[in-house]
Amino acid sequence: MDFQPYIAGLKPADPGPLSRFLPPLEEGVISAWLSRLNLPGGWLLDPFGFSPRLVLEAARSGYRVLVTANNPVTRFLVEMFANPPAQSEFTAALADLGAVKKGDERLEGHLQSLYFTTCEKCNVEIQAQAFLWRKGEDVPYARIYECKHCGDSGERAITDEDIERVKKIAETDSLHRSRAFEKVVALNDEDRFYAEEAIQYYLPRPLYVLTTIVNRLDSLNLSPERKRALTALMLIACDAGNTIWAHPAERPRPKQLSTPNQFREHNVWMMLERGLSLWAETGSTVPCEAWPKKIPESGGICIYDGRLKDLAHEVKKEIPIAAVIGSVPRPNQAFWTLSALWAGWLWGKDAVEPYKVALRRRRYDWAWNATALHSAFNHLIDILPDGVPFFGLLPEAEPSFLTSVFSAASASAFSLESVALRTEHDAVQILWKCGQKQAVQNTDVNILQTTIEEYLAARGEPASYLHVHTAGLIALAEAHALKQPGQEFDEALRTTSALFESELKDHEKFVHYSSGENIETGMWGLGPDTGLDTSGEIARSTRPTDQIESKESLSDRVEMAIVKFLQKNKNALYLEVENELYPLFPGLLTPSKGLIYAILNSYAEREDGYWKLREEDISSARRDELNNISTLIETIGKRLEYKTRREDKLLIWDENGKPVRSFYVLASALIGRALETSAVDTIIVIPGGRAALAAYKLQRDPALAARLKNVQVVKYRLLRTLSDVPILTRESFEEQIASDPVEKSSGQMMMF
Ligand SMILES: [Zn+2]
Repeated sequence: MDFQPYIAGLKPADPGPLSRFLPPLEEGVISAWLSRLNLPGGWLLDPFGFSPRLVLEAARSGYRVLVTANNPVTRFLVEMFANPPAQSEFTAALADLGAVKKGDERLEGHLQSLYFTTCEKCNVEIQAQAFLWRKGEDVPYARIYECKHCGDSGERAITDEDIERVKKIAETDSLHRSRAFEKVVALNDEDRFYAEEAIQYYLPRPLYVLTTIVNRLDSLNLSPERKRALTALMLIACDAGNTIWAHPAERPRPKQLSTPNQFREHNVWMMLERGLSLWAETGSTVPCEAWPKKIPESGGICIYDGRLKDLAHEVKKEIPIAAVIGSVPRPNQAFWTLSALWAGWLWGKDAVEPYKVALRRRRYDWAWNATALHSAFNHLIDILPDGVPFFGLLPEAEPSFLTSVFSAASASAFSLESVALRTEHDAVQILWKCGQKQAVQNTDVNILQTTIEEYLAARGEPASYLHVHTAGLIALAEAHALKQPGQEFDEALRTTSALFESELKDHEKFVHYSSGENIETGMWGLGPDTGLDTSGEIARSTRPTDQIESKESLSDRVEMAIVKFLQKNKNALYLEVENELYPLFPGLLTPSKGLIYAILNSYAEREDGYWKLREEDISSARRDELNNISTLIETIGKRLEYKTRREDKLLIWDENGKPVRSFYVLASALIGRALETSAVDTIIVIPGGRAALAAYKLQRDPALAARLKNVQVVKYRLLRTLSDVPILTRESFEEQIASDPVEKSSGQMMMF
């Protein structure tokens, strides 16, 4: 496979509305990919409609994007992102709502009063920001507030008054609860039970606030723009009102509807107000129409509010699709169920109807995911001519998700063109092409084993299971070995998973660096043949140099590439560094941001956003320094009555013609390279500025850490100090050397 470089993007500055349910993607990735595609004005198809930002960015890049979105909430989000109402409309909408009469009160005052609590310090009645609950209890155990009168703020114990307020609202709960589900499904609907069940994730107070507002939406008589603004704010409130907010937030991206053991009941009115800033989207709007209305050639979004299946034959006749893009969906029962509920509250039963299946289904497994994706891929095959590219992003990648996606695509005549993976925290970038490729003629029954071995050898250091798994999946996809014809997906996925398990566990060549048995934890590396004996000791001096194991590790190669780049480019932006590196280390070799930053911090300083090589790291300065250190070693040796000689890259102390100690002086943190050449009792000497980087490498590479176990690494500074000590003996030298472990420097890495 021709591995493409990972496309660098930027984390969005502002997470935006409903971000906990939307795919976490970097900005700038799709536009960069589209600029390579270079077909401005062409049609793109996003068959999933999962990421409004992705669609918007593609449209802003000058493409016409056809999106299928059968979830009414995501559809609304796409419209809102494309063309949000003016900020003034949001403010006015909230003011209009607040001014509605509830009895002889204003609605705003009425709803705020539900959250009144007394400040513990100044006794003034203020609004709580949130109440804290334990699952299954009738009353909250704490409240969170920020008193604007005295400044007291934080989590405070609940008061009797707070409890009274909660109990009072609970008295009328059943009435509001039945109103809430009648908005979603009819009384005699067989799905009524599911709607009721979903509404259980709302406590009485937020449910009262939400239904009270919902019941007034129609009578408000707002302009369409203002109504859109209010709906958008309400969407934030609908999500703020449920119990799926763990306290403390240990699971910030929920997938499953389930109430955490401790959770936060937000002040829904405050969340409505806060929604104002969440929707403050900057940047240009783009034309956005409902299918089959036309959008201009300069770019825009066309939304098809149905299923891909129904769109397929219409598109085929009318629109030449140049490429498919999309954030490939993974199941999210929480968001899908809640979407059905919110659609009912905000737009009525008719809006829920086509999406009602989301209410019913409560378990989505990977086989379900693969089956659904397979059917989507098949519809695409119907629409697209052969050769049309499909650029898919898979955020929150995990092995099962990837297996599901690869299996589905491979079973539907999409051929894999490229995969780029950075870390488990970044979206995997996959390129498919429509049309079946010939299966790679692979008669190797050990294809999985061979591939993983080759990958780890190319990497030259252990990898996460996700990397190993992806390397294996690529080989299986190319050999069409992910799913047998006629096989169900659950069986296919099970078979694949068992294959990985047995191939990794049954072969001694693979070493699992993990505290657990589960193959997905920890890291995987190559075993004894790579210079490690089983006890983790270094097999010295007998190592052949012309085999794969002598290949330098990925992190060392990345370090060299960055230094080279910084030497050529006096002032470099981080993004420029990434753009230089990714083509050098494409596909599954993409270096992590953590590694890049560790190297940059070691060699360079940042000024006004630009990285600049440190004075002492300019090559001429480093060369002088290397010479100084070599001289120091010789001088110290003389004081200890050793004779110093140079052999290759080592400085060796001899006594009576026999080597006693040797030194490998580095200007870099290429410890792996030093270990290759090291002999008995070698001391590796590195600049102090490299210590944190060396510590970082040891922490990310357990194989390197094992090889370094019995080798001492010291900083230049220590040798300088020793040369200044008036009385130096062989014993005190050894003591000092032992007291300067490189691991101590790891604290310096904490800022990243
Ligand atoms: Zn106070």
